[in-house]
Amino acid sequence: AEARPPAGLATPDAVFGEGRRNSQGFDLSDEATLSRIEAARGVEVPDAVPLTVSPPSGQRVPVRNPATAEIVAHVTEADAETVARAMDDARNWDAPAAERAAVLRRAADLYEAHFGVIFATLAREGGKTLPDCVGELREAVDFLRYYAAEGDGATGKPRGLIAAISPWNFPLAIFTGQIAAALMAGNAVLAKPAEQTPLIAAIAVRLLHEAGVPAAALQLLPGQGGTVGAALTTDARIKGVVFTGSTETAQTIARAMAEHMAPGTPLIAETGGLNAMIVDSTALPEQAVRDIMASSFRSAGQRCSALRCLYVQEDIAPHLIAMIKGAMDELRVGDPWQLSTDVGPVIDAEAQQGIDTYLETKANHILHRVWAPKQGHFVPPVLLRVDGIDDLEREVFGPVLHVATFRAGELNRVIDNINARGFGLTFGLHTRIDSRVQEVTDAIHAGNIYVNRNQIGAVVGSQPFGGEGLSGTGPKAGGPLYLPRFFAPEPVSAGE
Ligand code: GLU
Repeated sequence: AEARPPAGLATPDAVFGEGRRNSQGFDLSDEATLSRIEAARGVEVPDAVPLTVSPPSGQRVPVRNPATAEIVAHVTEADAETVARAMDDARNWDAPAAERAAVLRRAADLYEAHFGVIFATLAREGGKTLPDCVGELREAVDFLRYYAAEGDGATGKPRGLIAAISPWNFPLAIFTGQIAAALMAGNAVLAKPAEQTPLIAAIAVRLLHEAGVPAAALQLLPGQGGTVGAALTTDARIKGVVFTGSTETAQTIARAMAEHMAPGTPLIAETGGLNAMIVDSTALPEQAVRDIMASSFRSAGQRCSALRCLYVQEDIAPHLIAMIKGAMDELRVGDPWQLSTDVGPVIDAEAQQGIDTYLETKANHILHRVWAPKQGHFVPPVLLRVDGIDDLEREVFGPVLHVATFRAGELNRVIDNINARGFGLTFGLHTRIDSRVQEVTDAIHAGNIYVNRNQIGAVVGSQPFGGEGLSGTGPKAGGPLYLPRFFAPEPVSAGE
């Protein structure tokens, strides 16, 4: 039988309307708000352990602050037996949809109420700057409320056991978004956070349990990819995998699933990008530079949406590149908890070494580099000269911007080159020619296209996020098609 969409979901209009508003966040220019946040500076970050129905076992290891190498807290990493028991213990969440939605909304309120320990953990474990902490908490609660609003009248059936494998770069928002959708559809979830960020995941799961998610419907399995990730992607009891991370890991997961799971078991993967921006000679330089800086260097470039290769029309290139260098000189790289900090550390020593090694091989192409602290895993924001996106061997996941120039008349060649790489996550365009907006955005293959603004920070509900080609499978997170994928397909019976 053919499948049809699950019944009872709210239409996007209803979701965007009366019932749901995006989080208002925290105003970092407000003194009272700042002093509430400041109070969290010294807060103790709790240890993480597997949050499972049966008592867990595993090795206890320290989690270190990427800015200072200090131990933030410890994590007990789930061993193979813990994962196996969690799979046995897992149960679908069989409460009515309206009750599941109410619990997710309560969890969103709890997240906001516990912003202090959440910010402290995001900053110390993940190296997140304060504005990034605010953005991340907002996105997490928006995911909870969005899927709750969409699903609270749902009558569809769950798929069953879902493995949720999430990245360190949005260790609260993406972690929560995957889980929220899977739970809203009534599934049982086994959540594996990234090795680097188990502490924030444990806080999130404790709050979800406190809000009312049953322990057997949501179990947390912090640990290694080789142990936890491998077990979650090679077991026929898993009925779906939701993954955000590298394209290579997604391909490894897809191969494992093909070998071990029923054909058709869904993999929802959001992966890497080689994201470009085109700035033509009609663009407003001041606006373009501000948006280039945010797109390339915010979050230390550790977003899969980040701008990697900037194309500037030759006529304005000298002027624009000089302005970019000037703006880079204004960047403050350092302690994420300082409000004046623009760029925090990269996530760990391995990330730092990988980027440093890349930059050594490109030493002759460096146009500009700014100061960064020597202690801690900091990488100075860098501007590199290239001929085009063809020169980028891979996605360098850090504050590294490549710049190329193009002549009038070469725009189609540039677009072809960008598309030829096979990624398709974000794309930016700065122009004041209306017809060009249409032409270029029609021709570019990318999931999220931004015109005359920065190309990061997709907003739940209004800018569903996700790519095509090597950048992911879709459906887009925070959009109306994401939640439906977590329900079992409903057969259309004969005669309908
Ligand atoms: N959704 C994020 C953004 O729009 C990026 C997510 C990611 O890096 O995985 O910036």
